[in-house]
Amino acid sequence: MAAVAQAPQSLNFELPEDLKLLKSTIREFVEKELWPAAAQVEDSDEIPAAILDKMSEMGLFGLPFAEEYGGAGMGELGYCVALEELGRASAAFSNLLGAHCSIGAMALHLDGSKELKDRFMPQLCAGDKLACFALSEPNAGSDAANIQTAARRDGDLFVLNGVKHYITSGDIADFASVFAVTDRSLGARGGITAFWVDLNAPGITRGPNDKKMGLSGSHTCELIFQDAQVPADRVIGKIGAGFLTAMKTLDMGRLSLGAGCVGTSQLMLEKAIAHAKDRVQFGKPIARQQAVQFMLADMATEIYAARNMVYNGAWKADRAERFTIEAAMVKRYCSDMAIRVVDRALQIHGGMGFMKETGIERVYRDARILAIYEGTNEIQRMIIAEELLK
Ligand SMILES: Cc1cc2nc3c(=O)[nH]c(=O)nc-3n(C[C@H](O)[C@H](O)[C@H](O)COP(=O)(O)OP(=O)(O)OC[C@H]3O[C@@H](n4cnc5c(N)ncnc54)[C@H](O)[C@@H]3O)c2cc1C
Repeated sequence: MAAVAQAPQSLNFELPEDLKLLKSTIREFVEKELWPAAAQVEDSDEIPAAILDKMSEMGLFGLPFAEEYGGAGMGELGYCVALEELGRASAAFSNLLGAHCSIGAMALHLDGSKELKDRFMPQLCAGDKLACFALSEPNAGSDAANIQTAARRDGDLFVLNGVKHYITSGDIADFASVFAVTDRSLGARGGITAFWVDLNAPGITRGPNDKKMGLSGSHTCELIFQDAQVPADRVIGKIGAGFLTAMKTLDMGRLSLGAGCVGTSQLMLEKAIAHAKDRVQFGKPIARQQAVQFMLADMATEIYAARNMVYNGAWKADRAERFTIEAAMVKRYCSDMAIRVVDRALQIHGGMGFMKETGIERVYRDARILAIYEGTNEIQRMIIAEELLK
């Protein structure tokens, strides 16, 4: 049948060749090396060093960043395609990359001076140094504008005091984007500054790793600043503009978080389909039961919607269009979607889904955080409504 009309160039849903190649390369890496290592990561609570080396070799730590700084220049869309595939592996891997690329180094990449980026981005892109993102505090989670960590100017230095908590990769990161109050009288917009901080400098200690419900192999901890001296040339962007940097960075992070949700959900759907075809009860495969079919149909429909949201949001980000509302919608929808999908996949597996051997109970536990970190889904709804009602 002849096409009704030629599709306009601006509406092309096909991934470019380089991203197709990236997708298949990462799929292979996940299937050959990451998925088989999931049980080991779960039991040891560590990512094997050999896998970290392989991730560096593959250039994963620099995927979204500009080639002039040593990155792969894949942009947000390319990064989301990669994270979608990595969503099929243990969450430890996407959390490590997420803390590093999506938010830790992203703050520097988005708003850092050329000098700072020339100096630090190449080692970050190579995976020689790891980054994390330190915004949350014990008394400032959803209300991030209320952070108390203070940065006092002292000549060519800023002196930081305060505590950040639940910081992903805080135990192993070399550097952090740290957000601190430089002028309390100005509030969040004008009074918070972003700093690029060497976490091995004097005055900074790391708390013990938190004991969590899931995410084995990905650790969170406190970062404690006690008269920690940060050179004034390590300010990311302008003094007082740090809250904006944090929000812009989180917009990016929310897209790639959504991409991971899509990959995880796709894997859960595939496992559910395979099991439903294989498992016979009442004399026929459970896939022949409409109740099971409807669960599969809902899973597939939601994944389809989520994937298109992610790609569209990332495409906007790469075109330097404003995408705050899309990022919040992606984060809200994709995370809730992933939690629903893994729940249904577990249900379709019956008792077997509850057993460790299928790996689904791990995904179920790991998925729960998706509705909480990088801004809870209630906060995403607030952002969406605020954008709508502007
Ligand atoms: C595993 C993990 C990793 C993390 N990694 C990082 C990291 O790398 N860097 C970092 O900076 N932070 C990180 N965090 C912190 C995370 O971003 C916060 O936990 C999150 O933003 C929620 O803050 P909170 O835990 O203080 O919850 P709270 O802000 O106390 O919220 C509790 C509940 O109240 C609701 N609520 C709060 N205010 C409102 C409101 N105005 N309207 C409606 N509902 C509201 C919330 O939605 C939530 O349901 C991580 C957290 C975890 C658990």
